Amino acid sequence: MDKADKKQRLQKSVAKPKTAEKTKIKSKLRPQLHLGENAFYDIFFKNAPEAILITDSADKILLVNKSFVGVTGYKRPEVIGKKPSMFRSGLHDNDFYSKMWRSLTHKGNWKGEIWNKRKNGEVYREWLSISSLRNRKGQITNYIGIFADAATNFAQSTDSFSKQYYDPLTKLPNRLLLQDRLEFMINHARRNNELMALLLIDLDRFKLVNETFGYDAGDTLLKAMTDRLITCVRDVDAVFRLGADVFAIILEEIAQLEDAAKVAKRILESCTVPLKIDGHEVYIALSIGISIFPTDGDGKVPLLQSAETAMRRAKEMGSNNFQHYKPAMNTRAAEQLALESSLRNALSREEMHVFYQPQIALNTNRIVGMEALIRWKHPEMGMIPPGQFIPVAEATGLILPIGEWVLRNACKQAVEWQKNHEPIVISVNLSARQFIQQDLVEVVRNVLKETGLPPAFLELEITESLGMKNPEQTLKTLIDLKAMGVRIAIDDFGTGYSSLSYLKRFPIDTLKIDRSFVMDMPEDQSDAEIVKTIIALAHSLRLTLIAEGVEKESQAQYLLENGCEKIQGYLFSPPVPAEEFLRLLKRQGDIIAAT
Ligand code: C2E
Ligand code: MG
Ligand code: MG
Repeated sequence: MDKADKKQRLQKSVAKPKTAEKTKIKSKLRPQLHLGENAFYDIFFKNAPEAILITDSADKILLVNKSFVGVTGYKRPEVIGKKPSMFRSGLHDNDFYSKMWRSLTHKGNWKGEIWNKRKNGEVYREWLSISSLRNRKGQITNYIGIFADAATNFAQSTDSFSKQYYDPLTKLPNRLLLQDRLEFMINHARRNNELMALLLIDLDRFKLVNETFGYDAGDTLLKAMTDRLITCVRDVDAVFRLGADVFAIILEEIAQLEDAAKVAKRILESCTVPLKIDGHEVYIALSIGISIFPTDGDGKVPLLQSAETAMRRAKEMGSNNFQHYKPAMNTRAAEQLALESSLRNALSREEMHVFYQPQIALNTNRIVGMEALIRWKHPEMGMIPPGQFIPVAEATGLILPIGEWVLRNACKQAVEWQKNHEPIVISVNLSARQFIQQDLVEVVRNVLKETGLPPAFLELEITESLGMKNPEQTLKTLIDLKAMGVRIAIDDFGTGYSSLSYLKRFPIDTLKIDRSFVMDMPEDQSDAEIVKTIIALAHSLRLTLIAEGVEKESQAQYLLENGCEKIQGYLFSPPVPAEEFLRLLKRQGDIIAAT
């Protein structure tokens, strides 16, 4: 039988697929295999484990087998007469198909991996082999495509396609595939009027695991995290790894917004159980951002941006939480950007000021110290509190010039006051970034030299958590600063992670009890007890104590009775500009009357 005959027969078989198919398929193989037509049909076509598709020369589908129906989800009548291009996923460009056709025309076959789309919209990868059949005149009569669903073994595959689209460590699809898939899923959801959610998941402190336990441990953690994420979603939902410590999940066809929140909660809950890494128990903290199609973005780019904004917000909220995207977050992000750009010019435009808050000795009621606190008078936004711009200054590195400026100004001011008054200690806050800067010791040394302030009158405030981040490095820096003769205070004591052994080892002079313990005492029994304990601890370590945020007489009284030497707070004075502080100094001794 020549190929033209075969084509004719095949075409006839399309007209009457049920009976015609069985009897009229023939092959060049038949004589060699000595099998009847029906047997051939049953074994090699109908029951073949691979999906088989036969088209005519115009690429219209003539025949498909049972496996084809199984893999693609299409029934025969739905595809007969149509072109295989109906299965395109949209993941390949025109160049890909041109190469395929060139190979088919010139070599007679094409083999490779291809992403196609099932009837339910799911994009899947198949191993496809296409051969073209020609008649005696050399004209193409049919194309036969044989393929198997490759989804189950993509992980083992080492071809360039996998490398391009999959993360080799976790075997999860990567950012490139997320973008392709998002576009496809968005179109699908739009057509079917469905809701869809995108979750971005950031592993907090992943770098710390890498640094502490090594990169192998980091890899183990990522794989374990991948398993957890997969168990938290339905089979149809896809998990992606976008970067070192960022994962994404697309939740298709969700019924309501709450469904996305449920998955986020499930993921967070799964992380309450620590991971065992190299014999260590490691707790993972996550920040999850959620955006919903179509409300939070009607294309892949805005949807991704919204999820990213929400994820950043979750991180700001202190991690281990999830946030739905809200348009106000964009406003916030824009405000942050505006803040950042005006912060860059704040020093040169002389918008920054240093205020001073007195520290009072409880037994004498005299000003014995002062804390320098930065103020930013923004020309349009008014007074911006340090709590709002210090984190931005930290993140951008602007804290270094700003911090040095505060230090220089505060020291200069202290020297000025020392000319006419009894010398008092000036406290200056150091943020984490300032503290870990290479040349901090040099900066302090230079400022002291320039301003002429004796080192014993400068106290540098650092927080507990800052000190504990890298205790060995902290110890080294503190020893260098101490050697110069400056004093060291631990600020906001009681709010961070304290280690008594380090507290003993660090050369500290002062503990500042955080305002949060002071504000409700003495009425709040447990706060009152904590304060008493901190006082006892400080005494046993021979440290000076300052209670922060003292606003009431009863608080000052309790602190005095329990042996706290100094207070700082609105009871005596809020932070004030330099001229005002000078007036307070002149009024020395009027502390109680001033309240
Ligand atoms: P902090 O170092 O713990 O400073 C004490 C904060 O408590 C100040 O807030 C002060 O105004 C406020 N405060 C003092 N007494 C009372 C009181 O009785 N009641 C209440 N409710 N609050 C009181 P401020 O000035 O807003 O500063 C906030 C934080 O910003 C500071 O906390 C410090 O961590 C940081 N900061 C301020 N200036 C600088 C600076 O120059 N450099 C750095 N790195 N951080 C600074
Ligand atoms: Mg402070
Ligand atoms: Mg404080």
